[in-house]
Amino acid sequence: MGAQMGKSRPVLGTDDLVMWESIARRSWSLQKCGNGHWRYPPAPICPECLSLQHEWQPIGGLGTILSWVVFHRRYFDDYHPPYNVIAVRLDEGPIVMSNLVGPEPEGNWIGRRVELVYEDHEGSTLPRMKLIP
Ligand SMILES: [Zn+2]
Repeated sequence: MGAQMGKSRPVLGTDDLVMWESIARRSWSLQKCGNGHWRYPPAPICPECLSLQHEWQPIGGLGTILSWVVFHRRYFDDYHPPYNVIAVRLDEGPIVMSNLVGPEPEGNWIGRRVELVYEDHEGSTLPRMKLIP
């Protein structure tokens, strides 16, 4: 293991690649250890039980909004304000970040149920969420 000097950049590791490939197939899969702990973000070790073993399984795609924000300022060329970012607790347990598409709730978004949808964005497939009516 050599020491790296200077600034680091995010690198897509092996585990991330498997996840993004599953998203591209519109079957978002996450790691699940032998003790049943779902894991996100992808990592070599289960943060719950430190197991090194896992298998990839598709998630059910249902979750609950934990938090949300609407950005009114432009930070990225491909995200035109206003746009939202939501934190969703998947029914499997992990918390993921996404965007709510389609109709937005009135008032407080927290606690609203959402389901996974896939959208094409700038040549990639991204996991997004829409409200369950
Ligand atoms: Zn575990």
